[in-house]
Amino acid sequence: MNPTKSEKRRAIALFSGGLDSTLAIWLVKRQGVEVVALNIDIGFGSTKSKLEHMQNMCDQVGVELRTLDIRDQYLREILFNPKYGYGKNFNPCIDCHGNMFKIAKELMAPWEADFLISGEVVGQRPMSQRRDALDLVTGLSETSDILLRPLSAKVLPPTLPEREGWVDREQLLGITGRSRDVQLKLAEEIGLKDFEKPGGGCLLTDENFSKKLAEFIKYDTLEVEDIALLKCGRHLRLPDGAKLVVGRHKEDNEMILAALSPKYLKIRLLNATGPVAALSANATKADRELAARITATYGKTNPEERYEVQVGEEVLTVRPFDSKAPCQRYFINL
Ligand code: SF4
Repeated sequence: MNPTKSEKRRAIALFSGGLDSTLAIWLVKRQGVEVVALNIDIGFGSTKSKLEHMQNMCDQVGVELRTLDIRDQYLREILFNPKYGYGKNFNPCIDCHGNMFKIAKELMAPWEADFLISGEVVGQRPMSQRRDALDLVTGLSETSDILLRPLSAKVLPPTLPEREGWVDREQLLGITGRSRDVQLKLAEEIGLKDFEKPGGGCLLTDENFSKKLAEFIKYDTLEVEDIALLKCGRHLRLPDGAKLVVGRHKEDNEMILAALSPKYLKIRLLNATGPVAALSANATKADRELAARITATYGKTNPEERYEVQVGEEVLTVRPFDSKAPCQRYFINL
């Protein structure tokens, strides 16, 4: 029997928008627990439509979605100094999860929640979801007894919500390992639709993105405003150290324009069609001229002619290179 309204317990679910965290919510909500889905934004999501997708998932399981932007804290405290190191790429998953749970725990009092839930599965991911890694996450966030993992609960020690009877352990699952069979079957049974996340997951697990990030921090301190630029365009490092990002297509150009901040100069061709580019605002004169030539080379231009290129406030007149080959030597190594 479900508890009456006054006895109703509330849980905060760490929510990524993925199938596992959606099912974890469903498993607990169907037992009469009120669940709030919390998505924590660390800045490295890869898709614009993610919010829409998350809202759709929450609507399907009937819970409220709340989002929290922690990008600045994540850069300052987690990304470059993880206690438990990195996974295969630039992904400090154990520390990242630990940080998220710690933040969720701090929200329990103001949001009047009794416990936390997550969609983690024992043994599913090489780094962050091995059993010992789950214990490290729990330890980092000091959430031991209040963190329930409904998908693997039966293979983990009972937590407070189970012992107190707020949640019936028997109605939870005991999934381990990488297979998604049980999750897919359950999704079908409950009629969950469109649950595949659009556009992939966290960019810190992406090899090329991680290399771009590693290269960036050799020259500069990464700030929140730099992240959006790392997600688009061709990336070049010019001889005096300036960073140049050149759009490859319309979507890149729009992303570059949206990502421009005082750290970067906008570059565009004034009398020809061409890409938008962003250049470090402190670029030397030589790097500014080279950036203008490179940008002109990627435009609809003729190497025999000269073009006006706006670089920040100044207008330079340059001739494009004869081919793209001289530009490519400045590409960062991926
Ligand atoms: S994949 Fe990305 S968001 Fe997820 S735990 Fe790892 S670093 Fe954090």
